[in-house]
Amino acid sequence: MQLFERIAPLRAALKAHRLAGETIGVVPTMGYLHAGHLKLVERAVAESDRVVVTIFVNPTQFGPNEDLDAYPRDLESDLKQLADFPVDCVFAPPVDEMYGRPMQAFVDVKPLGDILIGEVRPGHFRGVATVVTKLFNIVQPDRAYFGEKDYQQLTIIRRMVADLEMPIEIVAVPTVREADGLALSSRNVRLSPKDRAASTVLSAALDEGERLVTMGERDPHVVLSTMRALIEAEPRAGLQSLDLRDAATLDAIDRISDRPVALLVTANFGEVLLIDQRVAARKSRSAQTGECP
Ligand code: AMP
Repeated sequence: MQLFERIAPLRAALKAHRLAGETIGVVPTMGYLHAGHLKLVERAVAESDRVVVTIFVNPTQFGPNEDLDAYPRDLESDLKQLADFPVDCVFAPPVDEMYGRPMQAFVDVKPLGDILIGEVRPGHFRGVATVVTKLFNIVQPDRAYFGEKDYQQLTIIRRMVADLEMPIEIVAVPTVREADGLALSSRNVRLSPKDRAASTVLSAALDEGERLVTMGERDPHVVLSTMRALIEAEPRAGLQSLDLRDAATLDAIDRISDRPVALLVTANFGEVLLIDQRVAARKSRSAQTGECP
């Protein structure tokens, strides 16, 4: 496994692999790796000849009052964890390598990037889409791996790749959770013990929302108000957003049909913003009742 901090030597190394006809998979991360990230790496090494993991806490996706400086970093531990896998390249550039001059070109996926989390974090997804495009242009991967946990991000990247004809397959990896349901996140280490205990309310509310959708509830308001009541019963949870959307487009819907829906939640526990999601679909009538179809 080779560590690169600069673009040119990484490009040179990858060119040799590409010329040898090998496929390249990329796993973009902000580091402070945990088992959720490693699941993406595991998928990438299973499916691609060469794997690049990028580690970059991207300043342009953080707002002025957000937690850029507090975002946890530990490159040494990241490299140790990655050494357990046949990862070929780790790209961990300093900020000046990625943003050496003031940027004038950006990638903006609208309106997808302005809704939901984009409303709470204006400019966030422009930063994400722009840095992912830069990473794609540096690595030129065949496949790129993203977690379902950041569901809106995944949807935006898929749309960006489709609209801009980027020849990259986007692979979605299901959310990895703690035994009590909390979605793994680099931010979890900043939760106080009391907030950590309270944070399980998010996955519990998603479980309940999923159950209602699966059993055939058609009214999004019923699903959302049940979930909201559960979350608001936990005084340590500062609910920021709770939505039920079409899972493919993130369009708002008046009535739940047979198409899968995405349940999306963001909430603060102390200073820490947690996000979680669930994709749910109505079960067929026979599956609901246990009858033979
Ligand atoms: P981050 O370092 O938070 O930017 O995450 C890098 C990638 O790992 C993103 O595609 C995330 O969606 C994914 N990821 C983060 N947490 C998890 C998790 N608990 N399960 C699966 N994927 C995750």
